[in-house]
Amino acid sequence: MGRTKIVAGNWKMHGSLDQNQALLEVVVSETRSMQNASCVVCVPYPYIPQAKSLLQDSHVAWGAQNISQHHQGAYTGEVSAEMLAEFGCQYAIVGHSERRLLFGEGNKVVAEKFKAAQQCSIIPILCLGETLEQRESGEAEQVIAGQLDAVIDLLGVEALERSVIAYEPVWAIGTGKTATPQQAQDVHKFIRNRIAMQNERVADDIRILYGGSVKASNAVELIAMPDIDGGLIGGASLVAEEFISICMATQN
Ligand code: PEP
Repeated sequence: MGRTKIVAGNWKMHGSLDQNQALLEVVVSETRSMQNASCVVCVPYPYIPQAKSLLQDSHVAWGAQNISQHHQGAYTGEVSAEMLAEFGCQYAIVGHSERRLLFGEGNKVVAEKFKAAQQCSIIPILCLGETLEQRESGEAEQVIAGQLDAVIDLLGVEALERSVIAYEPVWAIGTGKTATPQQAQDVHKFIRNRIAMQNERVADDIRILYGGSVKASNAVELIAMPDIDGGLIGGASLVAEEFISICMATQN
């Protein structure tokens, strides 16, 4: 049947109890008929219990936007995978470019976060992507390979089996500039081929989402590409009609 597609919302640091409730109620009711695709929302930490209570009996899963690489201890301000698992998180984004660029997370730390998530049966959504400068200087593939290889080197290629990858070109995040379907497809294919060099089955099965200014108006043509298995959606995941349209466009 092929790979089940995923649409994951990344709310970033947005929301309030009232706004979240209104958004989640309509997303749950309007995506109920979604078939052969999963819908996930990655919410700010304090709203995870709210997401759990509103979503636990629904088809929508919830997750976190970051996770500590540590399991417990003197790490002020951090949140462990064990804590997230207690609140039913099934997913955690790791290595989002905002974490890499604004909070200094390097490839090794991201790989450790990936490992911590999996140790608690949380599916990491591993974000990979190049900056505009790196793309223009012809380094995009090298950068993405380095981000991917850090996880493979630490955990082995089989670890990717219980994960999702999101290709998010930094120049397309929150900028309104989307990669063309062909540009995205080329990188998705590159990522899949790189995994296939070590394990073809893992490469065939892994879901690779595209992220970067995905909207209802461009989702269909992106998701139609053979190696694009859904989307990681920032800004548009906060707008009910946009997010619902993207979800409904992402069915096999
Ligand atoms: C993101 O934050 O992962 C993202 C893709 O943001 P946006 O859709 O707003 O570009």
